[in-house]
Amino acid sequence: MPPERRGDEIVVCGKRYSIGTPVVLWTDPGGYDAYSTELRFPDEPPKDAPQGLRYQPGRKQLSADGQVLERVLALSGSSRCRDELDLALDQFVLHYDVCGTSRQCFKILHDRRALSVHFLLDVDGTLYQTLDLSDTAWHARQANPRSVGIEIANIGAYAPGSATLDEWYPRDELGPYLRFPEWMKETGVRSAGFVARPARSERVLGRVHGRPYEMHDLTPQQYDALVELSVALCELFPRIEPDAPRDAQGRVRWDALSADEFRDFHGILGHYHVTEDKQDPGPAFDWELYLERVRSRLASRSQP
Ligand SMILES: [Zn+2]
Repeated sequence: MPPERRGDEIVVCGKRYSIGTPVVLWTDPGGYDAYSTELRFPDEPPKDAPQGLRYQPGRKQLSADGQVLERVLALSGSSRCRDELDLALDQFVLHYDVCGTSRQCFKILHDRRALSVHFLLDVDGTLYQTLDLSDTAWHARQANPRSVGIEIANIGAYAPGSATLDEWYPRDELGPYLRFPEWMKETGVRSAGFVARPARSERVLGRVHGRPYEMHDLTPQQYDALVELSVALCELFPRIEPDAPRDAQGRVRWDALSADEFRDFHGILGHYHVTEDKQDPGPAFDWELYLERVRSRLASRSQP
């Protein structure tokens, strides 16, 4: 790797790619390392610390019709890493973390549940990469072998009237803002004095899998960083199309895909598109605005 870092790079097959928005790598001070088998926060230990790996080295091979074969491609360090990865990767899965901050999210995934995800996106728009994309993160079951995953910091969606949203989002004269609970003590948010405000000032009510949920939107800083990362992923991996699953009327779907639909889909999904027992990234996630921004950025970058 070149010695110099700009601080906006993601890592694919050991190579850095600038994406134009701050990224903290797992090798950086204060980063989150999904390769480690140690506790990331030993001062806040769980009762039963998980053992072993939190990820799958390499990628399971897919056959031409999208079936996952058991042969694992050990990609890291191989000269064919990018070629093999291009064939394996065709989905980007979006989650919200129900933790509120990336620090808390990594603690739960790594130190409690032995799970992983390639990216964390904090409330101030800071991205954290925890694994090379040539390795498989454990974040969305059947999507794992063929996807990149991101956990977006947000306390999530609830049945209408939930007290959780009142507790997390008090209001001042400027509207709702994020107030972290006292037990959290350290938020890990890197922008000093940052006050996180949802991109829209009212809760968004919507239906996922036919059931009603409400939720506060992501922050504008999160949307900005997510757009930059998505543009980079669609450029690096052209099989990831800049679109989400849509219904017959062309609207983004709010239900899970069937097995056949999932097999045939190459693009950007919510976790709820993968499985019926998840709602993330939730009804407040502004799919159309996000996808429009990604597509227009891709179009402007492809101009000579
Ligand atoms: Zn999820």
